Amino acid sequence: MADRSFLAWPFFEDRHRALAEALEGWASTNLVHVDHSDVDQACRDLVAKLGEGGWLSHSAVDPDNADSKLDVRSLCIIRETLARHDGLADFAFAMQGLGTGALSLFGTAGQKREWLTRTRRGKALSAFALSEPKSGSDVAHLDLAATVDGDSYVLNGEKTWISNGGIADVYTVFARTGEGPGAKGISAFIVPADAPGLSVAERLEVIAPHPLARLSFENCRVPRTAMIGAPGQGFRIAMSVLDVFRPTVAAAALGFARRALDESVSRATSRELFGAPMAELQMVQGHIADMALDIDAAALLVYRAAWLKDSGAARISREAAMAKLFSTDRAQSVIDKAVQIHGGDGVRKGSIVERLYREIRALRIYEGASDVQKIIIARQVIAGN
Ligand SMILES: Cc1cc2nc3c(=O)[nH]c(=O)nc-3n(C[C@H](O)[C@H](O)[C@H](O)COP(=O)(O)OP(=O)(O)OC[C@H]3O[C@@H](n4cnc5c(N)ncnc54)[C@H](O)[C@@H]3O)c2cc1C
Repeated sequence: MADRSFLAWPFFEDRHRALAEALEGWASTNLVHVDHSDVDQACRDLVAKLGEGGWLSHSAVDPDNADSKLDVRSLCIIRETLARHDGLADFAFAMQGLGTGALSLFGTAGQKREWLTRTRRGKALSAFALSEPKSGSDVAHLDLAATVDGDSYVLNGEKTWISNGGIADVYTVFARTGEGPGAKGISAFIVPADAPGLSVAERLEVIAPHPLARLSFENCRVPRTAMIGAPGQGFRIAMSVLDVFRPTVAAAALGFARRALDESVSRATSRELFGAPMAELQMVQGHIADMALDIDAAALLVYRAAWLKDSGAARISREAAMAKLFSTDRAQSVIDKAVQIHGGDGVRKGSIVERLYREIRALRIYEGASDVQKIIIARQVIAGN
């Protein structure tokens, strides 16, 4: 059983503790041996299951309640717990939030009602389409163009590395509308998957498989009302969404790391080496201590960022970047130690730690690579924030 003593920390309210306990019970019965052989089907099934369980109601604001807000601590607790049980379940949950984050934060009442009612029940899948072949880290220079034509915007260009690409029902798409140079000329749009001119150009395979695609927009027409927020506000919208969701990526990394520690303790206490349990070897104890320390330090940064956002901070760029940078980096190290403790079984295809080893890597690249997080932190510190 993973350490849950962190739930006693003052960052949390009783509703968070109740959420963690209820989700733990649900995950322990519903996420045993999830079949990952067909990731598209697995994700559809997981979204439906998460919707039925009521967990997706945390992924976006309630369109019928104008006071409803995203609660970042709940998002983090859910992602940490799901990641500890099953990486694809965490992915399925995360995309329902990231894909609709712009609507939750900047959508009109009508846009929210149209889409969030469905995504929060697991009846529609969503995706976040920001990256392009020439602009992944350099988001401000994205090329996909949206031009006005009567009552419509017409989108032309490409997006790539789009999670849920190919299975999403709706995409949040960031496009150049040209109100100003660079970051000042981008707007956000809500684009249904069946919009004419939008197609999947290529499905992409990665070391920890999940639905991923390159998308093509050829004269893809959407009504002017598909714009989220105001013209030219797209970059700010994207960064605001990432401010909320970056700590949740860090939380997912924390969940993977906790699972790696659990597996390691179980291995070290059950396997005998040189006539005694492995756990009595001091070098193994050293690994376990390092792992536990990294996990607690990461958890402090994750839940500090989440608590700060929930407490009303407008932006938490520095804290979110610190949480993501540290937690994903340290989780990589924790999982590597877990592989070492498992010996040959650690690299055996299909073992839990082998799966974690593949699953953790991309988290240091997407939603802002680690190097980019360092730049964000340094700029904030130099500016005195
Ligand atoms: C599994 C996966 C899922 C993804 N899902 C999505 C998604 O759902 N939606 C979406 O829009 N995008 C998604 N992405 C794209 C992801 O956000 C980009 O891959 C990421 O931003 C890096 O962009 P890039 O791949 O073009 O690499 P580049 O921008 O070419 O960067 C390459 C490397 O250069 C380094 N680097 C970058 N900038 C700097 C700098 N200023 N200083 C120093 N070093 C730097 C970093 O180490 C970086 O990894 C996903 C990517 C992956 C791998």
